[in-house]
Amino acid sequence: DDPILSVTSFEELKLNEHLLKGIYEMGFTKPSKIQAKALPLLLKTPPQNMIGQSQSGTGKTAAFVLTMLSRIDFNVQSPQALCLAPSRELARQIMVEVKKMGKYTPVITAEAIRESNMKSSTGKTRNEEFANAQLIVGTPGTVYDLLRKRVINKNNMKIFVLDEADNMLDQQSLGDQSIKIKNMMPKDCQIVLFSATYSAQVRSFAGRFAPNANQFTLKVEELSVKTINQFYMDCKDENHKFEVLDDLYTLLTIGQSIIFVQKRDTADTIARRMTEKGHKVINLHGGLSTTERDEVMDGFRRGDAKVLITTNVLARGIDVLQVNLVINYDLPLDLTGRLPDYETYLHRIGRTGRFGRTGVSINFVHDANSWEIVKAIESHFKREIVKVPTDNWDTIE
Ligand code: ADP
Ligand code: MG
Repeated sequence: DDPILSVTSFEELKLNEHLLKGIYEMGFTKPSKIQAKALPLLLKTPPQNMIGQSQSGTGKTAAFVLTMLSRIDFNVQSPQALCLAPSRELARQIMVEVKKMGKYTPVITAEAIRESNMKSSTGKTRNEEFANAQLIVGTPGTVYDLLRKRVINKNNMKIFVLDEADNMLDQQSLGDQSIKIKNMMPKDCQIVLFSATYSAQVRSFAGRFAPNANQFTLKVEELSVKTINQFYMDCKDENHKFEVLDDLYTLLTIGQSIIFVQKRDTADTIARRMTEKGHKVINLHGGLSTTERDEVMDGFRRGDAKVLITTNVLARGIDVLQVNLVINYDLPLDLTGRLPDYETYLHRIGRTGRFGRTGVSINFVHDANSWEIVKAIESHFKREIVKVPTDNWDTIE
């Protein structure tokens, strides 16, 4: 059955009335499955650790944000809830959700991401800002730095959340920092992990990271997002990919879309070439300044730009409901550079088809290896990836 439709109401979940007001104002009428299932467990006394999994776009954010807001004693002005996310953009997005859900609570928040001169000045120094903040969302590097310098006081921390937890615990990725941060948390701090994917290896590590956790997965067999139609597009070779992309955007009227590449250089190159061809595109990757990143992301959210070219930095968590097409200009590869990265694939295409909406993904295939990767992805998720019906563009929705 559908991971979106739910069985209970938010009232039954015994959420505080101020939080209810916030979520109703956001237009949430009923909890999603993951919210209905996770919240009663997350809110129990004494607090218990949790490792939760449900497919992308099913509302995991509200499950942990409502828990963080429920755990805070608003009379105590020191950090009590900490959430880590793998990218600046996702941390900022989570904070926006916190502010909406917490609108009718007195919560004091602070973002622990690298400073950008775009940040509205509250007139406070960073130290002052973190001294009385109750809920902090940030990226691991900055959070670790601020904890180490004691700008963030850890002593009253009650809940520690890792969004995109498998990515945050992966040793090849942000694992070291997450572990160091967890080791600084008080002994009785509740540890909450959420993701759409956990590789077998990361899952066993997660079990040690969050001991005695409630572990559950919603609909494993449907993690392959059934509301996203997956296609492939034949390209003659690497160079031909750009022509195909140009044609695609010339022929197709698309809502908003995201084009994923593997390298920053590729993002810069195709952004420049698309612009030369008269397409209006924007480009975001880790090589840009924090100010540039914030400007690009805000512009995309406002809909000023319809086409966003990016790397795996935005593969996870980003929620822009208008995105109805994801293009894998480069297929996601693991560290060998030849084999598919299934988790990243699922997260990338999960930028569309959010909360029960439909979406389309198109994979560019240009040689024998990329063809094998598409075949492997197809059999891994047991979902067909069919050729784009180029004679009738309209049918791809
Ligand atoms: P996930 O983290 O599981 O990928 P998100 O938390 O980003 O998903 O939620 C996906 C979208 O669904 C967001 O736009 C969010 O506002 C919306 N959403 C979440 N829960 C509900 C709900 N109970 N009712 C309506 N919309 C919801
Ligand atoms: Mg999420």
